[in-house]
Amino acid sequence: MRAAVRAGAADRPGIYRMLSSSGEVVYVGKSKQIRTRLLSYFRCAYPEEKGARILREAEAIDWQYTPSEFAALLQELRLIKRFRPRLNVAMKRDGTNYAFIKITRGAAPKLTVVRGPSAEDASVYYGPFVGAQRIEEALRELSDVLMLRDCRSDMKMHFSDQQELFQLGARTPGCIRYEIGKCLGPCVGGCSVSDYEARVALARAFLDGASDGPMEVLRRQMEEASEQLQFERAASLRDKLQRLEVLRGQFARLRFAVEQLSFVYTVPGHEGEDRVYLVKRGVVRAELPKPRSSWQRTKLKRLASDIFAGGAEKPALAVPTHEIDELLLLSSWFRRFPEEMTHTRQVS
Ligand code: SF4
Repeated sequence: MRAAVRAGAADRPGIYRMLSSSGEVVYVGKSKQIRTRLLSYFRCAYPEEKGARILREAEAIDWQYTPSEFAALLQELRLIKRFRPRLNVAMKRDGTNYAFIKITRGAAPKLTVVRGPSAEDASVYYGPFVGAQRIEEALRELSDVLMLRDCRSDMKMHFSDQQELFQLGARTPGCIRYEIGKCLGPCVGGCSVSDYEARVALARAFLDGASDGPMEVLRRQMEEASEQLQFERAASLRDKLQRLEVLRGQFARLRFAVEQLSFVYTVPGHEGEDRVYLVKRGVVRAELPKPRSSWQRTKLKRLASDIFAGGAEKPALAVPTHEIDELLLLSSWFRRFPEEMTHTRQVS
């Protein structure tokens, strides 16, 4: 492998793959200087070093050049997603304090804070938020206000409209959240499936930030309770409403503005291989060589207006699972190299 690198690798940006004897891709990496990076593997002094461990598993190396370090970073992410090499310990996520809110699937969804999507996950994610701990506290409060569960994922649910409940008789949940009115109690027949779903819908609307839906519902319920002289219930609804309003501000402050990452980004490339990336909400939607003629410029303009159409609309805050890694990669790139923003151009 060393001889192959010495004979063929040049010092320019690119990605490389380490392959096992059976052809399995065991590791994918990138570098600004492929030759230097690959030769460094053969200088590992200790067997426990990462490079030595990778070489022990590899029988062959192949590499591919990219126009720039940015292109290498994108290509590395895509290859890791495609091959899921076992030595790439999880996807290369940004190490900073980003977190997402996930609404789990299943009979009684709950809200949790996670660092990123799990491999085959199709849950709904909101974010990213900066400050995992603060967002966790705010989320706990939101779950309390909306009376959503926060227990183990495998907890068995028994909704009030499920036949099974009557067969099994009364239950005691043994959970303080139900006792003190902070969970609807889907595990003990404390609510029907539709009651619980309605609360999850409120949570979604709240996190989407697209409307004042959750507040409106609570306000209406509060007014009804007052009209029916249910003052205790009206007071409890008023408290929830106030807490939600505070939480809304808190979520807005903690949320990383994904919309900032929507622009045309021109990256100078190796020996004039400049490329243009059309980035919308932190994800590269298209890339093409930097236009050199008026025909190419018109093509780019058309593509950009297709991609950025509807840019003035208020975007939903949910992030599709498959976009999370790229979004984190781009936010990390522009935070590490803020001067790169000078190569971006907003499309109005
Ligand atoms: S009451 Fe039941 S569903 Fe709610 S948090 Fe407690 S154990 Fe979970």
